[in-house]
Amino acid sequence: MKIYKTIPETKAEQLESTTCDLCGDISYCQSPWASGCSIFKASIKMTDGQEWEDRGCDTEISYDVCPDCFKNKLVPWFDSYNVAKERG
Ligand SMILES: [Zn+2]
Repeated sequence: MKIYKTIPETKAEQLESTTCDLCGDISYCQSPWASGCSIFKASIKMTDGQEWEDRGCDTEISYDVCPDCFKNKLVPWFDSYNVAKERG
């Protein structure tokens, strides 16, 4: 889940942090200088729709996950399907 804060001067919303959709821990913090922040980012996203040269129409579904849930819940689930790991 993405958590936004409102900038008082502009009233614009800025991404402050992201929490894990599985356990609720912070999975990503926009302010890396803050105590206890991690730079780890992981998400699972699907975009479904149609695109033309001048416009598009799509729906996006996404989930944010923390490092522990990614490693201990999602990786074993993918491993159960014998999916090859891609490393960048
Ligand atoms: Zn988690």
